[in-house]
Amino acid sequence: ASGSSLLRDPHHNKGLAFTERERDAHYLRGLLPPTVASQELQVKKMIHNIRQYQVPLQKYMSMMDLQERNERLFYKMLIENVEELLPIVYTPTVGEACQKYGSIFMRPQGLYISLKEKGKILEVLRNWPEKNIQVIVVTDGERILGLGDLGCQGMGIPVGKLSLYTALGGVRPSACLPITIDVGTNNEKLLNDEFYIGLRQKRATGQEYAELIDEFMTAVKQNYGEKILVQFEDFANHNAFDLLARYGSTHLVFNDDIQGTASVVLAGLVAALKAVGGTLSDHTFLFLGAGEAGTGIAELIALEMSKQTNAPLEETRKNIWLVDSKGLIVSSQKESLQHFKKPWAHEHEPIKELVDAVKDIKPTVLIGTSGVGRTFTREVVEAMAFINEKPIILALSNPTSQSECTAEEAYKWSQGRAIFASGSPFAPVEYEGKVYAPGQSNNAYIFPGFGLGLIMSGTIRVHEDMLLAASEALAEQVTQEQFEKGLIYPPFTNIRKISAQIAAKVAAKAYELGLATRLPQPKDLVKYAESCMYTPAYRSYR
Ligand code: NAP
Ligand code: MN
Repeated sequence: ASGSSLLRDPHHNKGLAFTERERDAHYLRGLLPPTVASQELQVKKMIHNIRQYQVPLQKYMSMMDLQERNERLFYKMLIENVEELLPIVYTPTVGEACQKYGSIFMRPQGLYISLKEKGKILEVLRNWPEKNIQVIVVTDGERILGLGDLGCQGMGIPVGKLSLYTALGGVRPSACLPITIDVGTNNEKLLNDEFYIGLRQKRATGQEYAELIDEFMTAVKQNYGEKILVQFEDFANHNAFDLLARYGSTHLVFNDDIQGTASVVLAGLVAALKAVGGTLSDHTFLFLGAGEAGTGIAELIALEMSKQTNAPLEETRKNIWLVDSKGLIVSSQKESLQHFKKPWAHEHEPIKELVDAVKDIKPTVLIGTSGVGRTFTREVVEAMAFINEKPIILALSNPTSQSECTAEEAYKWSQGRAIFASGSPFAPVEYEGKVYAPGQSNNAYIFPGFGLGLIMSGTIRVHEDMLLAASEALAEQVTQEQFEKGLIYPPFTNIRKISAQIAAKVAAKAYELGLATRLPQPKDLVKYAESCMYTPAYRSYR
């Protein structure tokens, strides 16, 4: 190949890091200035450049540009500066990028499958240049973060999630395939935007929608085989639960909004209980919000309780109460409830307001998953602090503006007694001379390691026990010292080590359940996970 095509190939380009010998051997002489730079120096330069930008979206675009120019440099920089760059390549900045995707769009990333491709999806998959795909993240753009329907411009999400699969979980970039399925959008603003990149029509629903998804799922398995992992991302809840149920028995599927969230929150709770005392079934849980996140978390808590106590799920679910936009979910509404809410309709008189539900149910744990900010009012937090010595309060809604309360409010209104974590990050809070460090219940703790565990063991189906195993692995990573600072999650700086631990536990569970196909089972699964992980150091070319 010519030198200039090498420089234009993001998988192989090293920029100034090409050595003298490589420059001779690959016709690069003259195409680069005389300096030979190390990858370390290149990272230093790039991170410096990125820090110059004040606007997060500019940082995002600069990162995407680097990813398309020099993949290994992009990943080295991301891995070495993960805490700083996670909010750029993922939430919250990626959300803004999706909103403006049409205008900032330069080069296409990922694979687009629209209604126009109906009947040809297998051919479309074969147009993708990489053949050995291990994980697909797919969205239909209907519920992007807390931002609603962004149609085809949701592509930023699968691209961003897969960058994290590589950076945090060590899955090879060439094995990752981001896909957006475009069935239209109901977002009027986008439909009227001259720069919108998707189909200009209302969303297809019902049979038309189901047929397209079905053709896609069939084509995926036909093209990539049994072991391909398909992660559903940011589908609206009226489709998300159905897709998981429909394909859970035929494909290796995972929904991060439902299952990943559940696993990361359960891990935080298990860690929090070390401070508060008692087992899960000694506690009473109240949720504000009964959608993908809320019911997903509730179900995994109930499952873990049932494993611990041998009580049936129907019993353990009774410790858990959910409030939706209409109030406390109770049995008298059962007929009219969406199916995923039905298991939570317990015997009780209706209650409209959250604060009244808190006073009546007397939860020890309050979890916000409504997507609506400022709903854990002073009255609500004070009621929690009145009932409990150490109230556990999780304000999970994203982005920051939608958080149910701030970290400061949680500590102040509970006189510093709350154990608090949130979906979006908050800075440490000083209250009456003491510093409190709020945890961040970020899905990025779980899904990269979870996915790696499935992939490295050749697992063919996801089982809910694997989610429990992942929670356990994460909770174990919180040290006593971190714990004393009030942290219920470990710091992100060690995320690759954490991912390897999670991967090992998930894989072990898969072998135990007979769902792993990579035989024989490696003796030391943590070592094996580490050995499977992609590292972004440059390779030398002869
Ligand atoms: P979803 O499926 O749309 O569910 C939202 C739920 O909130 C629905 O049950 C809805 O009630 C309820 N709700 C809406 N407004 C309400 C109000 N004013 N009072 C009480 N309940 C209300 O959304 P989701 O996927 O679960 O996501 C919800 C939020 O959680 C988002 O902000 C998301 O960013 C966040 N989240 C955080 C994490 C994390 O921290 N790791 C992970 C996932 C999601 P109806 O059913 O009556 O409409
Ligand atoms: Mn999501």
